[in-house]
Amino acid sequence: MFEKAERLKQLPPYLFKEIDRKKAEIKAKGVDIIDLGVGDPDLPTPRHIIEEMKRAVEDPANHRYPSYSGMNDFKTAVADWYRERFGVDLDPGREVVSLIGSKEGLAHVPLAFVNPGDLTLVPSPAYPVYHIATLFAGGQSYFMPLLSKNNYLPDLKEIPESVAKQARLLFMNYPNNPTAAVADIAFFDRVAAFAKKYDIMVCHDAAYTEMAFDGYQPPSFLQADGAKDVGMEFHSLSKTFNMTGWRIGFAVGNEKAVEGLGAVKSNVDSGVFQAVQMAGIKALRGDNSCVKEMNRVYQERRDIMVEGLRDAGLEAAVPKATFYLWVKAPEGSTSTQIAGRLLEEAGVVVTPGNGFGEPGEGYFRIALTQKKQRLSEALERIKGMRL
Ligand SMILES: *Cc1c(COP(=O)(O)O)cnc(C)c1O
Repeated sequence: MFEKAERLKQLPPYLFKEIDRKKAEIKAKGVDIIDLGVGDPDLPTPRHIIEEMKRAVEDPANHRYPSYSGMNDFKTAVADWYRERFGVDLDPGREVVSLIGSKEGLAHVPLAFVNPGDLTLVPSPAYPVYHIATLFAGGQSYFMPLLSKNNYLPDLKEIPESVAKQARLLFMNYPNNPTAAVADIAFFDRVAAFAKKYDIMVCHDAAYTEMAFDGYQPPSFLQADGAKDVGMEFHSLSKTFNMTGWRIGFAVGNEKAVEGLGAVKSNVDSGVFQAVQMAGIKALRGDNSCVKEMNRVYQERRDIMVEGLRDAGLEAAVPKATFYLWVKAPEGSTSTQIAGRLLEEAGVVVTPGNGFGEPGEGYFRIALTQKKQRLSEALERIKGMRL
């Protein structure tokens, strides 16, 4: 009874099952676990955004179905933010669509542009949605390995011509989860040229462009030459404004791409709660001192953690962006083994790198989503292990 559909049976095995089981077992023993596994900000949503939400939720005009593609005021706020932040001009009416979080948009885009049997180009390691959304649309992922020797950028020259010709979409994500790598506009230019040559739509997941350190400002894909002819960028208020639970994001870029995604959405959901969109407007139009303050906090945590990990004999790069550290497993240890030992011997949860794709083997990811006292505590425990 209730035989699952093929698309669910095709889902890759859930690689964090073993860690989850161990975590529950160790927690049950009463161990004080420090969870550096999840990429969910621990800091609250800034006060002015909460106040706007409270005001908006009282207004009955916001209790009705929103417009499918997003309120004009929200889309205009997005366009204004893009112009100010990236110098990119967008037509709010045709080049912006609101999303119920960027994950929702990324998950739906293959339904608009991938036919059964079509290929998509998907980075590995990566946020799992790109591959799974491809599967749900009946497509097949061609994995582009992200390797340390290439600074975790896909090597476009390694993609066989026959694959490029069959590919409909290319997913990428910079600043990157899980590797914390960044990309410059020169790389985005190369991606745009590649996409134009092979008629591929680029879907850039830009969830972390605002979470950066030491004065670095990550670029938008849409700043690349001809980018708007070939693609779309997905943004989220989740990480920038600590709003993961609110479910609001947006996609911007090529008019036909935005229209196709909007057509799927209008048949699946009915848009973002207007009160949430109003809070989103407040966030985008507000001064960005709250973002600066959060970045200061993450930068401090980053520095404590990188230094401590190095003292413990681990190899960790100093990331320019994102709240992740991509750490090399000790010599002779797999991702799963080191994650298991950190949990059992130190009560510290990290994410094994292979869970994001096979090329992530040999690494683990730390999320800087705990207060610095907890990070220091985690480091003390790790230093007590023999790594
Ligand atoms: C957190 C995250 C998102 C999801 O953001 P939502 O807007 O909350 O859906 C998308 N992409 C990456 C790489 C993320 O880490």
